[in-house]
Amino acid sequence: MNEREKRAISLKRAQELKDSIKDYSIKKSSIKTGLTNLDMIEENKRRIIKVFNVSEEEWNDWKWQLSNRITDVDKLSKILNLSKEEINQIEMIGKKFRWAISPYYASLMDPDDSSCPIRRQAVPSIEEMVETGEADPMAEEFTSPVEGITRRYPDRLIVKVTNQCAMYCRHCQRRRCIGQKDLGLPMDVLKKCVEYIRNEEDIRDVLITGGDALLISHKTLEWLLSELYEIPHVEIIRIGTRTPVTMPQRITKELCELLSKYPPIYLNTHFNHPMEITREAKKAADMLCSAGVVLGNQAVLLRGINDNVHVMKKLNQELLKIRIRPYYIFHPKEVIGTGHFKVKVQKGMEIMENLRGFTSGLAIPTYIINAPKGKGKTPILPNYILVWEEDKIKLRNWEGEVFYYPN
Ligand SMILES: *Cc1c(COP(=O)(O)O)cnc(C)c1O
Ligand code: SF4
Repeated sequence: MNEREKRAISLKRAQELKDSIKDYSIKKSSIKTGLTNLDMIEENKRRIIKVFNVSEEEWNDWKWQLSNRITDVDKLSKILNLSKEEINQIEMIGKKFRWAISPYYASLMDPDDSSCPIRRQAVPSIEEMVETGEADPMAEEFTSPVEGITRRYPDRLIVKVTNQCAMYCRHCQRRRCIGQKDLGLPMDVLKKCVEYIRNEEDIRDVLITGGDALLISHKTLEWLLSELYEIPHVEIIRIGTRTPVTMPQRITKELCELLSKYPPIYLNTHFNHPMEITREAKKAADMLCSAGVVLGNQAVLLRGINDNVHVMKKLNQELLKIRIRPYYIFHPKEVIGTGHFKVKVQKGMEIMENLRGFTSGLAIPTYIINAPKGKGKTPILPNYILVWEEDKIKLRNWEGEVFYYPN
């Protein structure tokens, strides 16, 4: 075969590859992100700022955002166009499940569309009344050697430092813990957690979470990080927070200075939709990266929000652009009040199938089902091994081509 023939084959193949993602190439630009939908967000922001009668400076202060979370339907109806029925329903749900929305997150919502993926994550829905699922599907009560700690794996554990969050997500799997009152772990309990970790030499990875790990005070966080940093067997510290999504103002210079002192810190956040990737979120990610923090994302697969191959691909690609590496996609658990977000496992498989090969490996998180009764994270993967034989295995590749490989 001469060079010209080889080039002709390559060109044909390149066209084939292009065609294989044609569907996505067409749809991709119509999936809005927080960066492309800037006009709507800016207009919303102006309107909300007027409702609260505040300065831009206050808006940019996370303490203002936190203490001015929207928690009543009167305020919300000044920000979104709600029907009478919706107003009544939100009032009713509010008596059963807590809700709170940061003014910033509210500014990402389409005021006229109740199916807006941002709204569905934040605004209570009548569907939450359906009483299926468990209160505690994680069975966290049985894996807590000391108050505040959950140890479910041999070499790592989580410390739940607070039950507070910047926003109370409607799909939250920890609803049981997200109480009516905001509680940080008292200092004496926190000290006992550190004591436990110090005595357990197998623990090399400590995940500070909640609630939201970044809703504790600077002083407490500083104390905790410095204590953990002193423990020789603690190799890495992880932080679980949704603030880059729901209240990016929280990522201050002061916080970044603090985090930069305790490398390596891995911070996992929780973006679920490309609309959440805004200028503010990007700035937060940039600041964290500059502080040497390694960023990851844990999305939850949610009906009507991201249960779509194109939306999920776009989300992961947009995350990489702001230096956040997709880490997990969680299959939604059976938690009371979240039944309306349920999706079939086939949907998650379809999404994974549409990622591998079709986009950068970096944009592919691991799809996880949390096994019932706290039995742990279980990876779910499309099957690429078709048959096991004595001396060879039958495989298929991302395009469905079948081949044998020696074993
Ligand atoms: C998710 C989780 C971890 C961390 O698991 P990785 O797979 O290492 O990210 C640790 N402890 C508990 C209890 C968890 O739920
Ligand atoms: S930020 Fe996380 S823990 Fe807090 S309500 Fe949302 S999903 Fe739940």
